[in-house]
Amino acid sequence: MKKNFDVVIIGAGSIGAPAAFFLAKEGLRTLVIDKLPSAGQGANKAAIGGVRATHSDRAKISLCLKSIEIFSTWEEEYGDHIGWVQGGYSFVAYREQDEKTLKGLIELQQQYGLNITWLDRDELLEVIPDLNRKGLRGGTFSPDDGSACPLLAAHAFYRRARERGAEFHFNEEVTDIVVKADKVRGVKTTKGEYGTGCIINAAGPWARRVANMAGLDVPVRP
Ligand SMILES: Cc1cc2nc3c(=O)[nH]c(=O)nc-3n(C[C@H](O)[C@H](O)[C@H](O)COP(=O)(O)OP(=O)(O)OC[C@H]3O[C@@H](n4cnc5c(N)ncnc54)[C@H](O)[C@@H]3O)c2cc1C
Repeated sequence: MKKNFDVVIIGAGSIGAPAAFFLAKEGLRTLVIDKLPSAGQGANKAAIGGVRATHSDRAKISLCLKSIEIFSTWEEEYGDHIGWVQGGYSFVAYREQDEKTLKGLIELQQQYGLNITWLDRDELLEVIPDLNRKGLRGGTFSPDDGSACPLLAAHAFYRRARERGAEFHFNEEVTDIVVKADKVRGVKTTKGEYGTGCIINAAGPWARRVANMAGLDVPVRP
């Protein structure tokens, strides 16, 4: 018999694994399907692991401040070492125009809740001594940004999601999305079919192909 879920997540990467964790935590019957053999083996594995809220867009800053909160407290809260280092983030300026642009953004960034300041050349070199000194004018510094290990983090989300009841199917590829009367009804895979009224497309670089299965065009280009 076809198994039903509240949510089916396509992809167990940087987006899919944490999404599964938070949905399972809320008590939703969650299935994650990934064509690769384990969590975080897609683009996630290639990432350097920078977790920064240093952006100029309000939504991005808010989302990333939330990410920093989650990553920086994860080990304390759940006991998993995910390689979190709060090393800060800097945009450096060697040209007058870049200095002007970066300085012009700071007030807005601070208004959106970002902890960021401008450091002049010597102040910046104290924080990052290895910078190329020739022509250096200064730079922004956001001390709360940091980095984590992408594979350790994906695995931590995966493990804690499973503990909360999420199901993960690896080595299984979603081949079609079942849509009836303009509503999502389920997914077809290389191994079977699952019923759901809600799908999260967390397929990363493959997101356009997955969206096409539901007749949608998502402009993601690998
Ligand atoms: C060199 C490099 C460095 C980077 N550094 C950073 C960084 O420092 N900080 C940062 O924030 N970002 C960084 N990124 C970007 C970051 O890696 C991606 O934005 C992020 O991993 C995307 O996550 P995702 O979950 O969307 O995709 P992925 O992690 O790729 O997950 C998508 C998953 O979907 C699965 N999938 C796809 N189609 C199907 C299907 N039909 N059926 C079943 N499964 C399917 C795939 O197997 C994959 O596991 C970097 C990227 C690269 C390449």
